[in-house]
Amino acid sequence: MGYETRLLIGGEMVEGEGAGLEVENPATEETVAAVASASAEQLDAAVASARAASPEWAAMPGVDRTPLLRGVATALRERAEALAAIMTTEIGRPLSESADEVEWCAACFDYYAEVARSEIGRVIPPIESSQFAVVVKEPHGVVGCIVPWNFPLLLLCWKLAPALAAGNTAVCKPSEITPLSTLALADVFAELPAGTVNLVAGAGETGAAISNHSGIDCVAFTGSVATGRKVGIACASRNARVNLEMGGKDPFIVCSDIGPEGVEVAARGGAWAAFLNAGQVCTSSERFYVMEDVYDDYVSAFVEHTKTLVVGDPLDPKTDIGPMVSAIQRGKVVAQIEAAVAAGAELLVGGGNAGRERGHYLEPCVLTSVPEDSDLLTEETFGPVAPIVPVASLDEAIEKANSLDFGLGANIYTRDLRTTIRCLKEVRAGSVWINDPLTDNDAGPFGGFKNSGIGRELGTEGLDAFREAKHVHMDSVIEVKDWWYPYG
Ligand code: NAD
Repeated sequence: MGYETRLLIGGEMVEGEGAGLEVENPATEETVAAVASASAEQLDAAVASARAASPEWAAMPGVDRTPLLRGVATALRERAEALAAIMTTEIGRPLSESADEVEWCAACFDYYAEVARSEIGRVIPPIESSQFAVVVKEPHGVVGCIVPWNFPLLLLCWKLAPALAAGNTAVCKPSEITPLSTLALADVFAELPAGTVNLVAGAGETGAAISNHSGIDCVAFTGSVATGRKVGIACASRNARVNLEMGGKDPFIVCSDIGPEGVEVAARGGAWAAFLNAGQVCTSSERFYVMEDVYDDYVSAFVEHTKTLVVGDPLDPKTDIGPMVSAIQRGKVVAQIEAAVAAGAELLVGGGNAGRERGHYLEPCVLTSVPEDSDLLTEETFGPVAPIVPVASLDEAIEKANSLDFGLGANIYTRDLRTTIRCLKEVRAGSVWINDPLTDNDAGPFGGFKNSGIGRELGTEGLDAFREAKHVHMDSVIEVKDWWYPYG
């Protein structure tokens, strides 16, 4: 299969002139393509073209932008099969999950195409009857989008769709691990004015250059806490706007009120929430807190269901879980498991490589008796691992859920209204899912409390992340005000 490896700068496809990146298929460990990063001059050119395109795009009435953004959604759907195949080659996840991702991208563009033409601010009550006051929401200018590898297109679209809808132009950088799916988007943006969207490849250096670039007014970042902090510092040092989506360690609480049938469902829901995309989801469930009354039944249902999951070739439609993205990522996860086991944890199922000679396969793992202070229960794992912990009460479950410096998402299974209301009020996380793990909604904000993020994507909150508010105060009368000088 031939891959697009050129960058999109100012509407032109150009070969990168910077450092080379090799893209590996994690299922086979073969190098599938080589991509040259953007050189410093090429990044400058991308920023310059986004700046040049900015006035026209910013001034375009929402009603004219809407069909162009809808056109992006249509173009994504037309290329869904090819884009899904590229993502599966780069990341190793099952093809059906990659196809879902393309559809979610298109849906995000559809959503913002409509939202962006419905308002650009609000009317506020004036101070005096002769006056009229409004808040006008304006684009920042040029937005830099820095994206990780785990959902390369979705996490780009969650930035790009609202940024464009708000009237910004953009320079986008995918992860060095997954540049191909992003570079394949050049055609998708063909109907937009040249320079509105620029696609560059590169590793951390290029990301840092974007964060520090004086021609970029706002940086929207998704990735690890450590990198997000660097991006935040770079932006703060030059007072650029910034939106940070970072790591998580999401809790999953199972209450005893759900009954035996509920326990079965919550075990399957928990396995999906922990193992989706081989556990490489920022909102993966990574800590299970299960009420003592149902703990044994829950663990046994979870283990039995896990044993039925098919780990294998991501191109095979029967596969549930493909390989992890890289040897490094797999190694980090295995190290956390081994440390927990050495400290007394019990590995009930998983941990092997699915009998494969090649590929970064890791069979999904379920552990119990994990020491409370082990990394497996305190640090982000980002792999297919479910540590299950018994809790004596809802108080204990909520206390444990809130005990870390992360606050991205949280799941609760309960049928009890009092428990539901306590959890939705007391659990400190940007998304709280009751009885339906990990379901995002374009109309609802996504983001984290504490170390998991600053700002929100999606919803009207995600549009405002890319808009500057201007207060306009008008008086219909020209007169001397009685609060001016002289005071005496
Ligand atoms: P990462 O932080 O290593 O890289 C993310 C992006 O930042 C990449 O494009 C990388 O090239 C770039 N980068 C690296 N160094 C940089 C620097 N100094 N300045 C600017 N950019 C730089 O993360 P990753 O390994 O690609 O992704 C996994 C992480 O992403 C996990 O921690 C996961 O939780 C997080 N994540 C968060 C969300 C969310 O919405 N909160 C979603 C998905 C993934």
